[in-house]
Amino acid sequence: MKILIIGGGLGGLTAAIALRQRGFAVDVHEAAAQLEETGAGLTLGIGAQHVFRALSIQADVAARACPAGTLPFLHYRTARLLMGAPDEGNGLPDDGAANIVRHIYRADLQTVLIATAKALGAKILTGRRLIGFEDHGDGVTAQFENGDTAHGDVLIGADGLRSAVRAQLWPGDTPRFTDHVAYRFLVPRAEAAPFMGLGRSAIFIGPQRTFNRYTMCGGEIVNCAGLAETQEAIAEGWSIPASTDELRAAFDGWHPDVMGLIDRAQSIIKWGLYDRAPLPQWAQGRVTLLGDAAHAMLPFLGMGAAMAIEDGYVLARAFAEETDPAAALARYEAARKPRTELVHQMSIRQGQVTQAIDPDTFEPASAPMNNRDMMEFDPVTAPI
Ligand SMILES: Cc1cc2nc3c(=O)[nH]c(=O)nc-3n(C[C@H](O)[C@H](O)[C@H](O)COP(=O)(O)OP(=O)(O)OC[C@H]3O[C@@H](n4cnc5c(N)ncnc54)[C@H](O)[C@@H]3O)c2cc1C
Repeated sequence: MKILIIGGGLGGLTAAIALRQRGFAVDVHEAAAQLEETGAGLTLGIGAQHVFRALSIQADVAARACPAGTLPFLHYRTARLLMGAPDEGNGLPDDGAANIVRHIYRADLQTVLIATAKALGAKILTGRRLIGFEDHGDGVTAQFENGDTAHGDVLIGADGLRSAVRAQLWPGDTPRFTDHVAYRFLVPRAEAAPFMGLGRSAIFIGPQRTFNRYTMCGGEIVNCAGLAETQEAIAEGWSIPASTDELRAAFDGWHPDVMGLIDRAQSIIKWGLYDRAPLPQWAQGRVTLLGDAAHAMLPFLGMGAAMAIEDGYVLARAFAEETDPAAALARYEAARKPRTELVHQMSIRQGQVTQAIDPDTFEPASAPMNNRDMMEFDPVTAPI
């Protein structure tokens, strides 16, 4: 069976690896001319790491990551500890064996996934932007902007928030702007040092704002993300610059460590936050969705990429169980839809808890991130 994957992001690449390991022919068609992630950190949920362990790449991933530690939540002005414990980690990798959240530079994770997919014989074709597909009943033909076509038995839309596959499957359904923006920037270790006295990682929470910072790349770089409510509709992507003054104004009055990091940001981007309303169903015929294309969500739980990675693995499990493509897609969807809808919903709730409530009255127990069943779910062993 030949499976066409549209989109070479973290979800599409994981699906390619998992399917190749089970013997399926896989072609990944990626719109970008080159596969490269841009500079940002990623909180890597436990479910994703169960997948990497099952795919025998967890040691490689962990060697480029570091334990996320105790995830301390701090008051935005006073830095009083509201949840967790001070993060005393050194930012160095561990062996990846423990079931814990880790932090990683996105590009490092992508490097491991691309090398593994290629070593397993998955074809990764770049410069191939899907513009449409035709489901013939006994196969699917994909059409690309450059005039190329590709034929396979099944087509998986792993093409992100503005999925062309989703647009054709479910016309009229568009991403929702969530009235939030993320300001993203990096600070080198030496410049950040005076503002890191509270530990390796910290999540400052305040009304309508959060500021998350942690080290990555062996402690050399501090990844910073300020999330804020906004009235301004902003697009998403790596190319929308923001000024230091704009970011300072957004976090005016916050703890000096936050303001100090903002002042040392060399290049800030702002990224409008969108999500996708749950669909009544994902698949039609021989075509389905995976990752953000199916269920883009707010980043308050740091679980969007983990959901895409889990999807990729469960998709391969479903194809290993069913010989009929439609049955495999139905099995995949039945396993993944409830899980991703819960995490989607709880990501919204996590944002409401941390941003809308006065941190002085913050009740940690009500934060969805304390739901261990959800946060420690194992997609490798869960029944499908
Ligand atoms: C500010 C912010 C912070 C986040 N932090 C975290 C975090 O800490 N942890 C976490 O787990 N998640 C986080 N996320 C979510 C995470 O980034 C996404 O959920 C994840 O990248 C989705 O992976 P994906 O493979 O589904 O889609 P994408 O990563 O979007 O990949 C889609 C791929 O498809 C390609 N493509 C698009 N259209 C086409 C087309 N027509 N034809 C062919 N190819 C196409 C794209 O070029 C891209 O390579 C965050 C998101 C944001 C916005």
